[in-house]
This record gives sequence, structure tokens and C-alpha cells, in this order.
Amino acid sequence: MPDRPGRLASLAREHGADVLLVTDLVNVRWLSGFTGTSGLCLVGDGGEGEPVRRFITDFRYDEQSAEQLDAQWQREIAPDLMRRVTESLSGPLVVGFDDAHMPVKQAQSITESLAEGVTLEPAGSLVEKLRATKDPGEIAAIRAATELADAALTEVLERGIVGRTEAEVGLDLEFTIRRLGAEGVSFPPIVASGPHGALPHAVPRDVNIEAGTLCVIDWGAQLDGYASDCTRTYATGELSADDRELYELVLSAQLEALAGVVPGSEGKAVDSIARDIITAAGHGEHFGHGLGHGVGAEVHEAPRLSQRTDSVLVPGHVVTVEPGVYVPGKVGVRIEDLAVVTEDGHDVLTKLSKQLTVVG
Ligand code: ZN
Ligand code: ZN
Repeated sequence: MPDRPGRLASLAREHGADVLLVTDLVNVRWLSGFTGTSGLCLVGDGGEGEPVRRFITDFRYDEQSAEQLDAQWQREIAPDLMRRVTESLSGPLVVGFDDAHMPVKQAQSITESLAEGVTLEPAGSLVEKLRATKDPGEIAAIRAATELADAALTEVLERGIVGRTEAEVGLDLEFTIRRLGAEGVSFPPIVASGPHGALPHAVPRDVNIEAGTLCVIDWGAQLDGYASDCTRTYATGELSADDRELYELVLSAQLEALAGVVPGSEGKAVDSIARDIITAAGHGEHFGHGLGHGVGAEVHEAPRLSQRTDSVLVPGHVVTVEPGVYVPGKVGVRIEDLAVVTEDGHDVLTKLSKQLTVVG
């Protein structure tokens, strides 16, 4: 693992914090390797003194944390983690905390218990900023999660989907993902056929998937702490000309936008590529979500590809490209790939074909 605590400590210093308090467990895992459910980190560059690398957990995780954390961490066992933090700090000291993850109430109560001269300052999402750029080990983990997810859907499609309920296919997919060795799904699979496909976040229903329509399947696996995310839309038989046309529209928007995933591209500009194509075809108002999002330890993270972001792609970013057209009461199409930004372009991790495919 590259020097994540060191990089975070420098970033905290740039934001005016002597130490950063990291409480979100996904961030704690990313930073320290600890996978338990109770733990927090305090990191700082130490100013004139030694760098701060404290990890605090409770007695249940004494042994596990000893195995998972490397020697740079000072491990502490305490019944009340936050109390240990507040009692051990002395001023003058600025403690940064992630206001995106800590409720205001908790921040207030911490502030009240801090010693004189110790102040708590919001320093939002610094870990997320670093997490957005993946190292080769992380890219390998996301690639492995994606391969597993691809294999799982391939298996499920071989068993057929027409005549089964959406819920049944979703459960089959979830089960297959687990059986192939994933920790779990990265989110509950979406299986949405016919008019139901027009809901971008459709929950699978106890309704049979019929022949001759479109079926949106959005799924991902969680493996070794990393997520995958992919969507394919399948034909369940002969389609109407309108449905076929809609599919080809979304596919062309997806391919064009994907080509824009290169270092230096603005998230907003890449979103516009797909949005302009879909809008020109008269479906602008049927594409109501952003084009894509980062994927890593969490299935939705930085950077975003949308009209409401100032993100700029750099090598190591892993993003989805997922335009969709949702025609209320009729049908929906979404096609989503997961791609890693490389030095000279991108590498698509999701490998299943995007040509319109009929599944029985
Ligand atoms: Zn997805
Ligand atoms: Zn997605």
C-alpha cells in the first residue's frame, strides 16, 4: 500500500489541520487496512515532531487490528474511541474532521469535551479526494470485481430470463455473485423489464419478464473491498422499431461519451457529449441523471461526470459512463461501462457485448 497516511497528512496540512480525524469506516479501511466495524484514525504530519499515526479501536478488534495494520500505526485499545481522542489531545491543535460523515450533534459534543486550545474544524472529504485516484493494486481489485460480475450475469442469462420474475432473476444474480466468491453485491441488482425499465432505480418486482421487450439489468460485485458497476439492456425477443431505435441512440451516446474519457477531460464536457446526442434525438428530458460516477471502495464516489461537477479526469480515475433514456410508461434503456482513465486514454473494464442482444 503506498503511503496513504503520509499523503493524507500533507493534504490536511494544506487545509490548515494539524491532525485529521477519520471516522468513516470505508475511509479507515482505505487508510489503514483495518476491516472491522469499530475504529478510527488520527493522522498528521507532526509539524516539527514525529508524524501522527494513531489508530483506536475497542478490545474486540485488538488481535485483528494487530494483524491488519502495519508498524507505522500506534494502536490503542479503548472502550470509548471518541473519548480517547478528546482526552488525549492538547492544544494548541487544529483537528480536521470530515463534516460529510459526522453529524453536527456529534461534532458539537466532541468540541465541548476538547481541551483548551484544541479546535475542531470541518475538513470535508479529504480522504475521498485521495481515494478518487486509484493505485495499480486498487485498479486490479476493481478489475477482478468486474470480471466476477460479468461472469455472474453470463451464467444467469444462460439460464434464461423470459418467464421468470424480475425479483427471481435479481436474486439469482445476487446468489451467483456470492457463489463466484464475492463478498456480496455492491448494490442490490436492478432488473427492470418493459415499462418498468423507465424507472432508473427500479426495484425488481414479482412480475414476469415478457418476451419482445427490453430489460435493463444493473448490477455489481464487491470483492476484496472494491466495487464494480455495469448496466446492460437486453432484448427479450423481436423488438418494435421504436425500441430498437432507442437502443441504438443510447448506444451511440454511450460510445461517443466513452471516447471522451481521457486525461484532462472535464466531467461536465463528457456528460455533454452524451446529453447532446440524446437531446438532438428529442429525448433530452428522458435522460434525468448524470452520465457517470467514480467507483472504488464504494460504488458511488468521486469523481462525477455530470453538469454539476468541476471534476477533471486524471489517470487512475475509475468512472462509469452510463447514459440512459427513460420513456415514462413505455420503456427504458441504459448502457453502463466502467472505465479506468490511463495516461493516454482509457481502458474499459466491463467486457460484455453492447451490441443489441436477444436473450430468451
Ligand atoms: Zn450501475
Ligand atoms: Zn453506476
